[in-house]
Amino acid sequence: MKYYTRHFINNQFLESHDGGQFDILAPATNETIGHAASGKPADIDAAVRAARMAFDSGVWSKMPVELRSRKIRHIGDLIIKHADEIAELEIIDTGIPRKQITGSAIPRAAENFYFFAEQLKLLEGKSFKGDGWHNYVTYRPVGVAGLITPWNTPFMLETWKVAPALASGNCVVLKPAEWSPLSADKLAQIFQEADLPAGVFNLVHGFGESAGAPLVAHPDVQLISFTGETTTGMEIIRNGASTLKRFSMELGGKSPAIIFPDTDIDRALDGITWQIFSLNGERCTANSRLLLHRNIFDRFVEKLKERVAGIKVGNPDDISTEIGPLIHPEHWQRVRRYIDIARNEGAEIALGGDRPPGFEKGNYFAPTLILNVKNEMRIAQEEVFGPVLAVIPFESEEEAIRLANDVKYGLAGYIWTNDSARAHRLAEALECGMVWINSHNVRDLRLPFGGSKYSGIGREGGRWSFEEFYFDTKSIQIPTGEHHIPKIGV
Ligand code: NAD
Repeated sequence: MKYYTRHFINNQFLESHDGGQFDILAPATNETIGHAASGKPADIDAAVRAARMAFDSGVWSKMPVELRSRKIRHIGDLIIKHADEIAELEIIDTGIPRKQITGSAIPRAAENFYFFAEQLKLLEGKSFKGDGWHNYVTYRPVGVAGLITPWNTPFMLETWKVAPALASGNCVVLKPAEWSPLSADKLAQIFQEADLPAGVFNLVHGFGESAGAPLVAHPDVQLISFTGETTTGMEIIRNGASTLKRFSMELGGKSPAIIFPDTDIDRALDGITWQIFSLNGERCTANSRLLLHRNIFDRFVEKLKERVAGIKVGNPDDISTEIGPLIHPEHWQRVRRYIDIARNEGAEIALGGDRPPGFEKGNYFAPTLILNVKNEMRIAQEEVFGPVLAVIPFESEEEAIRLANDVKYGLAGYIWTNDSARAHRLAEALECGMVWINSHNVRDLRLPFGGSKYSGIGREGGRWSFEEFYFDTKSIQIPTGEHHIPKIGV
């Protein structure tokens, strides 16, 4: 057994109170490659108490901004220093192809710390001139932040929350996903090497019900930033109601890519295939619905078939692999079930739809193209979270907008056209949190990230992480002279 991950509480690696563990599986083989400590309420309570003590002591929350910013930056440096090892863990633990992990996910994780270290120094409070009054706005850290993350690009998504939570002076308890604990363990090692004050960063491994739920319900936790499925988000909001948590919810998606005939067809093909088939299709912002104008439908679908058939499925370790195995056998079954659902609804599985030939072991799933799809079908409405693309024709701009919005999710939208007025019209009309025009998802960390409708609540990223979530906003008013005070009881 190669790996053993433990909780990280008060700068110490600890077993679970009850000694509980769970298996760590490698998606490429489904062999057990290690064990993780399985957190329960007692472990969560220990982590929250450590975070609370650190926060109340002021050792972190009241640290001078310049110094705290330097320490956050240093975490980014340590991620770069350990990048190769993090990449190896992420590949074996998640099945994401090597090229996609080393090319973007790990550098972005370091960037998250560099960005929020800078952003902290740029934080400014507005002031409002009043007649005889000075009114201004300040920000203060809230307390203990509970961060709950999923298994798709886990290291990047964990750092996406940990960096702004710590930069703003909060102390954190991270509960990473149970299907991908390895790189989170490395993050804890990095924090140990960084030697931040004890209790500032804590991590508890474990399942949603036994470790996530007690974190959400804990009365000493003020903030919950959650990324995961919409139904889990709903459950978390219910569980956090009695302790009045502040929530940031980054949830599921069923994002459309809309392709008009006037676009550069080859670039559109590059963009939309990347945005559904990279990261094994396990990405929240995947363009899993392709809305294709009738005039180019046949031509585009022919090219698409050729492209999808050419995608190289393989061992995630291999640098030439473009799609690796899905995260877990249960997730494989879920993706596979959607193929039956689509077929039963009358859609045509034009390519893929099952285990690719030659891959007997592991959670490999062939890149899948589904035609004859109607927008009301479940395959067009529900999040599959795998390498599965559903194609739907449209005839007019109005119809494209109607189809794009006729779904409960609203995370992202991708518009492919060379008519800039139309691009802006559509961007306005789409009911979603983020739009890319003539592009796949390219993130600028200064912009707000998040979804509308069932895709989330709130925005993180840029100044929004701080002003809308990780800081408490306070207004302060002071008269600059002797203003009138009404008298009572005189
Ligand atoms: P999930 O909801 O099953 O689990 C996410 C996390 O929540 C895990 O750590 C899990 O242990 C924990 N959890 C589960 N039940 C809980 C409970 N009752 N209380 C507290 N915590 C609980 O999601 P997943 O399968 O790990 O991830 C895939 C989902 O994440 C997809 O729906 C995807 O779209 C979404 N996602 C969204 C974004 C975004 O930014 N909008 C980004 C990545 C992934």
